[in-house]
Amino acid sequence: MPMPSFQPPLRTLMGPGPSDVHPRVLAAMARPTIGHLDPAFVDLMDDIKVLLRRAFKTDNEVTFPVSGPGSVGMEACFVNLVEPGDTVIVCRNGVFGGRMKENVERCGATAVMVDDPWTRAVDPQRVEDAFKANPGAKALAFVMAETSTGALSDARTLTEIAHRHGALAIVDAVTALGGVELDVDGWDIDAIYSGTQKCLSCPPGLSPVSFGARAIEALRARRTPVQSWFLDLNLVLGYWSGSARRSYHHTAPINALYGLHEALLMLHEEGLEAAWARHALHHRALRAGLEAMGLRLAGVDGERLPQLNVVTLPDGVDDAAVRQTLLTDYGLEIGAGLGEFAGKAWRIGLMGQSASRRHVLTCLAALGGALARHHRAVDLGATLAAAEAVYAR
Ligand code: PLP
Repeated sequence: MPMPSFQPPLRTLMGPGPSDVHPRVLAAMARPTIGHLDPAFVDLMDDIKVLLRRAFKTDNEVTFPVSGPGSVGMEACFVNLVEPGDTVIVCRNGVFGGRMKENVERCGATAVMVDDPWTRAVDPQRVEDAFKANPGAKALAFVMAETSTGALSDARTLTEIAHRHGALAIVDAVTALGGVELDVDGWDIDAIYSGTQKCLSCPPGLSPVSFGARAIEALRARRTPVQSWFLDLNLVLGYWSGSARRSYHHTAPINALYGLHEALLMLHEEGLEAAWARHALHHRALRAGLEAMGLRLAGVDGERLPQLNVVTLPDGVDDAAVRQTLLTDYGLEIGAGLGEFAGKAWRIGLMGQSASRRHVLTCLAALGGALARHHRAVDLGATLAAAEAVYAR
């Protein structure tokens, strides 16, 4: 017998995404479904584009949410801008740089890899060297906020290097958007994609993208047709773009777009800069509490993401057992280590609605309790006091 209807358990989401979704966003998604070409829906699409441009800090006309998760936004960038015979310099300092490589190669192009140690930012000097060794490379691709390692890379500097060598900059901002400073026009980024389930605090399933003039020029200059029908910007823009009549391309995820609109409204009510500052504040408080507990964040100062905290697992602690206790006894989800960090680290997300004092204090208390349950006593009073001291400053 199937279950009568699915009732999800109550959870506090502090993993690498999805993050907690505000009731305003959930309520928006429960509104009546209308047609994807209804004039009222087209007005909503236009509003979403305006709000997304503000979130990305861009005037790019081609700014819209692709129907699909962040990986689809990633593919949209690569299939439109990369074709057989091209060379792309791909930075890899975690799992998602590896996924970019796959994309480049599946486009029939050559990926020249620039590898940096996990937890470290992409090293601009290595990128410079890669361009010198590969003149004529068409694009540089990198992950601004590496969710697998917690590393923040300098998107402005890396984009400058790409342009100095006549290449496009393709930026993964899945975890970056809304959580740390990002200025698409100010930094002159050519193509960028994100996801809704991280610092925008929507359910997963949409991928905001933005393409600048150089990227559109590269698309127009292609020698071969875009190999993906669904992601071909030339076609999808017939639905998402312009003031002319919109034509059917695919049936948009209508209610998901209601949710994105509401989440973007909430971001702009708060203010972008205020949202970035909020993520930074709660990161400092979480870090203070974790250190008082005797735990250590991976990575180095100045290169850590506030919204994704990689905590090195203490010796002798059973990763899965602690996370299981957190989930079943505290209703708290944190992330396991990914790739090289599997079984060696936890990933604690402070993304969007999950970047709050309530989340930080709940997480510290729950983690302290779970560690004690698994025979590693911590001083919970000192832990909470250390976090509170950050808020009192
Ligand atoms: N890029 C980064 C940096 C990510 O963190 C993720 C997902 O966690 C993705 C790409 C892929 O996004 P999705 O899982 O929504 O397809």
